[in-house]
Amino acid sequence: MTGQPGEAMDVQAEYRKLPAVDAVLRSEQAAALAGVYGTAQVAAMLRELLEAARTAIGQGDAAPDPDSWPDRLAAQLEAAFQSTLRPLINATGVIVHTNLGRAPLSAAALDAVRRAAQGYSNLEYDLDQGSRGSRHDHARALLQAITGADDALVVNNNAGAVYLVLAALCAGREVVVSRGQLVEIGGGFRIPDVLRQSGARLVEVGTTNRTHGRDFAAALTPDTAAFLRVHSSNFRQIGFVAEPDLAELAQMMQAHRRSNGGPIVLIDDLGSGTLLDTQPYGLAREPMVQESLAAGADLVTFSGDKLLGGPQAGLIVGRRELVEQVRRHPMARALRVDKMTLAALEATLRSYQRGRALEEIPVWRMIAAPLVELQGRAEAWRAQLAADLPDGVGLAVWPGESAVGGGSLPGETLPTALLAVGCAAAESRAAALRRRRPPVICRIQRDHLLFDPRTVLPEEDAVLPAALRAVFATA
Ligand SMILES: *Cc1c(COP(=O)(O)O)cnc(C)c1O
Repeated sequence: MTGQPGEAMDVQAEYRKLPAVDAVLRSEQAAALAGVYGTAQVAAMLRELLEAARTAIGQGDAAPDPDSWPDRLAAQLEAAFQSTLRPLINATGVIVHTNLGRAPLSAAALDAVRRAAQGYSNLEYDLDQGSRGSRHDHARALLQAITGADDALVVNNNAGAVYLVLAALCAGREVVVSRGQLVEIGGGFRIPDVLRQSGARLVEVGTTNRTHGRDFAAALTPDTAAFLRVHSSNFRQIGFVAEPDLAELAQMMQAHRRSNGGPIVLIDDLGSGTLLDTQPYGLAREPMVQESLAAGADLVTFSGDKLLGGPQAGLIVGRRELVEQVRRHPMARALRVDKMTLAALEATLRSYQRGRALEEIPVWRMIAAPLVELQGRAEAWRAQLAADLPDGVGLAVWPGESAVGGGSLPGETLPTALLAVGCAAAESRAAALRRRRPPVICRIQRDHLLFDPRTVLPEEDAVLPAALRAVFATA
């Protein structure tokens, strides 16, 4: 505290209130901190704090309370040793939020990761033969069973999957893509750039808004390696638009294969891809992996951590000889997945196999959450906070909309219930919520903070009112 006006502070007396380093380090609390952070870190942090206090006194501040040093030291060390990658509460209502870690894993997937990672595993070991096995065998049979594909390969992410498929099957030859599908997905992932990097030559057909089967047919040459269809991901074209049907492209390709015998393939990059139908939840139809294969795609690529609801991965499913060719490409090694990913992916796929995805996989639980349940949770938050927030802060439950995200179903929303907190300086309250441990991320609309229970895990339900109380207590 600075001195009262008219009352000169005794600066030397303030300096004398600063403790000696050794005196603080000898305290019981500092010894306990040294056990956690190491003696050198504790001593260095204490010197830093003392130096800052000396500077502050020089600028007219009072010395901190002499008894507060161990607590200040503990708080500072805890902050400094926080992980940079922090769990947080996603109250934005965007289910597959690319900036917030995409899909939360199921309990079974988390268990599987722990079991695979805490000791050794048969990642590349054949237990029957007692000899070297292949990591590619782990999720393969499950993906075959669930999607109906002949074969499957898992790589680091879907961007890697698209690149690898093009590099392995199309390098030096032509890949035909509709001009309506030469998309940028985000993070600089642009289909034309990836195509060039793979060594394939891009052949654009059609127009921005309309491309027909005949455009593809006209582009076929002896040098054609593939037709590539790309999910438009995070944007939607409306109005006078057309894209050829996958089945139409497949038929054209089969006819061409019969007459020319050339190795030409139909690749479908589904992006998110889904194994379950999105329509029963009032959403538009997101293309399903099984259907794409059934319609005649030779290879389908999709993400592990979008609508599948599993770990980050790129899944390649389709015809055996093609998948095998992709698997043998040297870059397959560079893009391979580790045991934790395989463990989480297998457990996630098992939920689908057992018909339990809606109950067990968080992304699907969120999509399928009934509106009445969301209203109940938002109401419960409102009721818990009703007596605790200062005057002038409004509390209400509003109807609103959640989004699926993850480059799927652009523009599609799910009806939800939002806790709306009306207050002045909403931006700075939101910033204070982000600084909480765990941070809480919400939406802001005019002077309201909006919290969507759909993306808040049920076990986090109590954290949200506590965070709001704390942020509004410091009025
Ligand atoms: C998201 C997406 C990708 C990239 O997938 P990642 O798993 O993020 O690497 C590729 N293609 C499409 C169409 C996508 O939507």
